[in-house]
Amino acid sequence: MELWYSENHTDNVRFSLKIKEHLFSTQSNFQRVDILDTYEYGKLLTLDGLVMVTERDEFVYHDMIVHPSMAVNPNIKNVLIIGGGDGGTARELMRYPNVQHVDMVEIDKMVVDASRKFLPTMSSELDNERVNVLYEDGVEFIKNKNNFYDLILIDSTDPIGPGEGLFTTEFYNNCFKVLKNEGILVNQNETPVYNEFFKVGISSNIKLKKMFPIVEVYQASIPTYPGGYWLFNFASKKYNPIADLKEDDWNSLGLKTKYYNTNLHIGAFSLPNYVKEKFENGNV
Ligand code: SAM
Repeated sequence: MELWYSENHTDNVRFSLKIKEHLFSTQSNFQRVDILDTYEYGKLLTLDGLVMVTERDEFVYHDMIVHPSMAVNPNIKNVLIIGGGDGGTARELMRYPNVQHVDMVEIDKMVVDASRKFLPTMSSELDNERVNVLYEDGVEFIKNKNNFYDLILIDSTDPIGPGEGLFTTEFYNNCFKVLKNEGILVNQNETPVYNEFFKVGISSNIKLKKMFPIVEVYQASIPTYPGGYWLFNFASKKYNPIADLKEDDWNSLGLKTKYYNTNLHIGAFSLPNYVKEKFENGNV
């Protein structure tokens, strides 16, 4: 008998992966957590049945949520990750010797525990002494901090369930307050391929533009995410992601990345007209 995992990207579009084995399943206080072993993409983490990361294509997402900011501001020392329970974002940050401290505020310990057990290539740096994992709601955590972080990475689920509060003006305002004067915020910003997701992305972009002087959108191709095409917001108090790219500084680090490079950085911020125009108009 064949076993398949499916995710509805819309009411009329379904994405399926053939499964070798259903390795883990539990209901935490926040969501259903599953780990499946797939033929094509290796191990897969789903939350409430939605794809979070796969072993085969996680490098795209984790390269692209981390490296663009690090190539713009080489002096990033203190970083806040909101979410990021699989550990891949923290792993990429640990490749930078100048990163002194990472607070990873993940609401669901079950996600971290499952990732430690089944996704060792992603969770490999969670015991690094520079990484401080806190099992808290990012919405609450951010409220009583001030002016501390150089970079905030919102590596969250979609705005449903616990992730909902991570897409509000109040939350972004609080993020703005805890960022230093040269601070950068990056959040995963959904896909423009399907309107339900695109609406979230545009709404998030509009809210960030109300408080950050520089807000740009960049893109990456992530096969297992809806539309295979994913966006990120780059919101900055000072640096322009293209004009202030420090190519030579970043390349001198000699980091071997599977997806990101400083030429691709330029292209990532060069959006197709149908996407660019909708962000400029502020509606889908
Ligand atoms: N790369 C994935 C994506 O783009 O959808 C995100 C992966 S990561 C597993 C998402 C994490 O956000 C989950 O572990 C979830 O528990 C966490 N999360 C959701 N809402 C949160 C909140 N309010 N505070 C902290 N973590 C939260």
